[in-house]
Amino acid sequence: MNYKDLANLIFPDAKDIAYYEEKYPERNLPEGAIVTRVAPSPTGFTHIGTLYQGLVAKMASIKTKGVFFLRIEDTDQKREVNNAITNIIESFNNFEILPDEGMISEEEEKGKYGPYKQSKRKEIYQAYAKYMLSMGKAYPCFATQEELEEMRIKQETAKVRTGYYGVWAKYRNLSIEEAAEKIKAGVPYIIRFKSPGREDRKIKHKDIIKGNVDFPENDQDIIIIKSDGLPTYHFAHAVDDHLMHTTHVIRGDEWLSSVPLHLQLFQEMGFKPPKYAHISPIMKNDNGNKRKLSKRKDSEAAVSYYAEQGIPSLAVKEYLLNIANSNFENWRKQNKDASIEEFDFMLNKMSVSGALFDMVKLLDVSKIVISKYTAEEVYLKALKWAIAYDQELANLLEKDKDYTLKVLGIERGNEKPRKDIAKWSDLKENISYMYDEEFEKIKNNYELQKINDKEKIKNILNTYVEKYFNIDDDKQTWFDKLKDLAEEFGYAREVKEYKVNPEKFEAHVGDVSTVIRIAVTGRTNTPDLYAIMQVLGKDTVIKRLKTFE
Ligand code: GLU
Repeated sequence: MNYKDLANLIFPDAKDIAYYEEKYPERNLPEGAIVTRVAPSPTGFTHIGTLYQGLVAKMASIKTKGVFFLRIEDTDQKREVNNAITNIIESFNNFEILPDEGMISEEEEKGKYGPYKQSKRKEIYQAYAKYMLSMGKAYPCFATQEELEEMRIKQETAKVRTGYYGVWAKYRNLSIEEAAEKIKAGVPYIIRFKSPGREDRKIKHKDIIKGNVDFPENDQDIIIIKSDGLPTYHFAHAVDDHLMHTTHVIRGDEWLSSVPLHLQLFQEMGFKPPKYAHISPIMKNDNGNKRKLSKRKDSEAAVSYYAEQGIPSLAVKEYLLNIANSNFENWRKQNKDASIEEFDFMLNKMSVSGALFDMVKLLDVSKIVISKYTAEEVYLKALKWAIAYDQELANLLEKDKDYTLKVLGIERGNEKPRKDIAKWSDLKENISYMYDEEFEKIKNNYELQKINDKEKIKNILNTYVEKYFNIDDDKQTWFDKLKDLAEEFGYAREVKEYKVNPEKFEAHVGDVSTVIRIAVTGRTNTPDLYAIMQVLGKDTVIKRLKTFE
């Protein structure tokens, strides 16, 4: 009996790998094209880190006219969750990080290098395991849980590395006949890789992100096919990324220490290894401690959080690109209207250590993104969000679309657009005073500023209505009249004038406009008051000025 016979005994039906090698030919792509992927496990929760990896991979592929695909890694069937693939696909869709190939629903896929769901690739893995067995580079291992446990205890007592390697690899040197006999007798087994490595030798790896790293060689005889017939991550990675012609494996840096094993697998199977780029995780500052964003502790770890908050997906992507390539921010300033896909993304400029997630910064990015939207875009996006998360806001927006478009158009589409909206969940608060029924609810929440004598204020407002206010005034005239009003009450006409002689005046024109702002909007801070008055219209403005309490 030889290795081939043993391989046939174990996988009688598995095909020769030549079949797959031919079925999945080299891709016909331009020189230097990056073929890469995102390969999440379907856990029912899409982590922002997965989105980040997908975005980075997509950017790298776009830049080189390569391919970006979505592979579902579901070989750990204990972790299966209903609709988990849909959840991942929708996350990528919502963020417009669209794969060129891969799963497009729970069961459907597109692309010629599939199946893109690992559980559908069982026969492929078995063919490659058979190939390894037939070369004597893999073997059946009959160790029971008890045996493995006993071995671990012995290793710990002897203070040596734990694991299945070298002299500890009990079934590594079982004769082919003995192995065959056990299999025929129905003894349960799994398939292990026969590692040619030695722990006392070093390998050098040049990671695209982490740079040069040295590791001891792998000498663990890791499991390649589990008792359920499915592969482990390591084996599936080698087989899949080989057959799918991945040129760059871009993945989380928790896999960096597995590189020696992976390179060895590629080597032993006679495959060309891919390049690796190990991404540092997004971190969080937790009372001075830096830790990974956690699914359990941090709501912002879930991709769904951003949709719930109404943070536009483009803002999240721009923020993630800021983290990925620190020169993105500058590029954005210089290319305000360019699509992010035009950014010259560099994998090797990604940071070696994990960047801190900064919500304030994300919201700042979001304010800029939203400031570039037209009123119509704001309307549609905010309405879509409101229908899902805030029916009251949806009603408000829909009641009089033309009016709402005017409201949303205030300080928009000009040189310096308003930047006070960071997320759709802020919008109601930002525009409610523009609607009478909402204004009624909030109008008394103000805090008076410099001019704070109620009677005096009423007097100022009445004088303004009677002598100065005219809705048809242009902006300059409108503002000159505010100055006249200020002067009439003995305040400084100009802020400058006041600053030179603060003891001479009680207040200045700015304080007068604050009084008017409060009466008209109930707030001390708003976008351009002139524009607000224009949209509110004469009657509403006069009513508010006259009924100020
Ligand atoms: N399924 C692996 C994970 O979610 C993928 C790692 C890889 O991209 O190869 O970590």
